[in-house]
Amino acid sequence: MSRRRRRRQQRESRISQRVEGWTPRTRLGQLVQEGRIPSMDEIFAEGHTIKEPEIVDFLLPELQEEVININLVQKQTDAGEKSQFKAIVAVGNRDGYVGLGSGKAKQVRTAIEKAAVNARLALTFVRRGCGSWECGCGKPHSLPFQVRGKCGGVEILLVPGPRGLGIVANEAAKIILGLTGVNDVWTRSFGSTRTVPSFAYAVFEALRNTYSLVTPAEWVK
Ligand SMILES: [Zn+2]
Repeated sequence: MSRRRRRRQQRESRISQRVEGWTPRTRLGQLVQEGRIPSMDEIFAEGHTIKEPEIVDFLLPELQEEVININLVQKQTDAGEKSQFKAIVAVGNRDGYVGLGSGKAKQVRTAIEKAAVNARLALTFVRRGCGSWECGCGKPHSLPFQVRGKCGGVEILLVPGPRGLGIVANEAAKIILGLTGVNDVWTRSFGSTRTVPSFAYAVFEALRNTYSLVTPAEWVK
């Protein structure tokens, strides 16, 4: 069995154990577990805040996880130098929901797990569409309009592309956009674009902006 596949199985069993042994700590969690809130769309439409990662696992069991970056970070403390790993993880269902989070720990695996939980808590809904004047097919294969995102010294512009274009971007952006289900897009980036963490968060912010630019009237559709 390949390492990748084994890791996926470990992750899947970790997630299913989490959902099975779940005792909700919030009212929203209770409603989800009781089946009274049957979909993630409903949570977002009503503007609830997700405080338990199990809510996401429960409603989006097909959610996928990808590690975007791992760094070793060193910090001076009274006891001397302390080193930790910092992981950045993206999650998505390839159908409009995506999250990005980071986590720190002494062990890589724990840092990834923490980041994966934080990515779920940061889950966002992305508005997709066919915003390319060259296309006009009307299907949600891209973004409805251009969006910008910024983080640290990095700025990114996502531009809708015609169907079949693919994702024209660097590796981190490709992973995040792919997990979102945005398939055809051009990207332009500015600033210190080699800083993977800032770059990833800039992409995430751009995607979040598709949602914040939606007017309440359009939400109802
Ligand atoms: Zn199109």
